[in-house]
Amino acid sequence: MGSVKEYFSSLGSGVLSLLKGMQVTGKEFVTPKITERYPEDRETFKWPERFRAILRLKYDQDGNHKCIACGTCERMCPNGTITVETKMVDTPAGTKKKKLDRYIYDLGSCTFCQLCVTSCPTDALEFINDFEQSVFTRDKLVKKLNYLPEKPEPELTEEEKAKLAAEREAKIAAAKAKAAAAKAAREEGGAPAPAAKPQAEDPAVAKALAAAKGDPEKEAKIRAALERAAKLKAEREAAKADNNSDKENK
Ligand code: SF4
Ligand code: SF4
Repeated sequence: MGSVKEYFSSLGSGVLSLLKGMQVTGKEFVTPKITERYPEDRETFKWPERFRAILRLKYDQDGNHKCIACGTCERMCPNGTITVETKMVDTPAGTKKKKLDRYIYDLGSCTFCQLCVTSCPTDALEFINDFEQSVFTRDKLVKKLNYLPEKPEPELTEEEKAKLAAEREAKIAAAKAKAAAAKAAREEGGAPAPAAKPQAEDPAVAKALAAAKGDPEKEAKIRAALERAAKLKAEREAAKADNNSDKENK
């Protein structure tokens, strides 16, 4: 009698568990799907908004980018992923100007921290979500991001050239006059010694800050990015030193 009771009790619990399982399956049948059927759904694929796949230089409709070749992003990058190669070009005004020659980016070493993007003073960089970057060798991950030829400097009119030349000459004359006046005052012995120059900042920091052109918001942004990059580097070096000492101890 006891075994018949056990038989029906286990049969009942088996049917119950079957119904529970079917309830879960039935619910999943009607729940909207969140998985992607890549690559079948390549055309309708939806990326998360903050997904970062590869860095690129922003280009406007006329084929111009905003990079001024200041090198801030290169200095900010904790992995040495970016190399900014520059060249000097002659401007129509008769002066020299530093311009971007090649912007080299190694996707293979990028950790997508976005320090380069946030520290750029001209907002010239962005991350896009083009994730299909598979290649057979690592060297193919090294990319040149400035893909369009640089546009030549706009030609100046004769009037503008004359104005620029006059301004340059006036500046030179004013500087010479100032220097001569200071020298004369020193020779007379009445002038105070020139004030000591303020303590210079780290040249790399000063160079990075120069790109902000005195804009306090950009300067703050660059300083914050510099600090973060230095912290990241220090952490990496400490981790490396720990690894080395572990190896030596073994
Ligand atoms: S920080 Fe911006 S402007 Fe400066 S080199 Fe990099 S991309 Fe160009
Ligand atoms: S995202 Fe980070 S690691 Fe990648 S290039 Fe920019 S600064 Fe370097």
